[in-house]
Amino acid sequence: MERTLIIIKPEGVQRGLIGQILARFEQRGLKFVGLKMLQMSPALAEEHYAVHKGKPFYTGLVKHITSGPVVVGVVEGRGAIKMVRTMMGATNAAEAAPGTIRGDFALEIGYNIIHGSDGPETAAREISLFFKPEELLDYRLASESWLYEEQ
Ligand code: UDP
Repeated sequence: MERTLIIIKPEGVQRGLIGQILARFEQRGLKFVGLKMLQMSPALAEEHYAVHKGKPFYTGLVKHITSGPVVVGVVEGRGAIKMVRTMMGATNAAEAAPGTIRGDFALEIGYNIIHGSDGPETAAREISLFFKPEELLDYRLASESWLYEEQ
């Protein structure tokens, strides 16, 4: 099983999309093992987006992600990292396919609603930025026996 971090960005919260976005992951069969709402500090945002430091959009990105409350979650499932990325759609929401979160709810790259870790190392790093180990839960969903062919 893999774990990955998702963030519903400030525009997703402001537009009342928290429930619909969380529901998509639940409906797919993915399991939330951590979930909370917070407003990111500039220091946390800079660390989270450290890989983009120096790029033209970095300052605006940090300013935007800290501008209001976000919802942060840890999603667990077989192949969860890639699955969440597929469900998010292309970074530039204008090019995101219909049926994806960005393709259904957003129009622009800077207001693209959702973040998801892009690989196993990033996922581990990002999860540890937002959650203490004791905030992540180990439990089994009853539905898992009907989601995974091999238990
Ligand atoms: N971003 C932006 N302008 C750009 C590239 C990225 O505003 O030219 C923002 C966008 O909101 C994106 C975030 O920076 O989600 C992080 O970029 P990344 O390339 O990691 O895209 P993601 O992994 O979020 O699809």
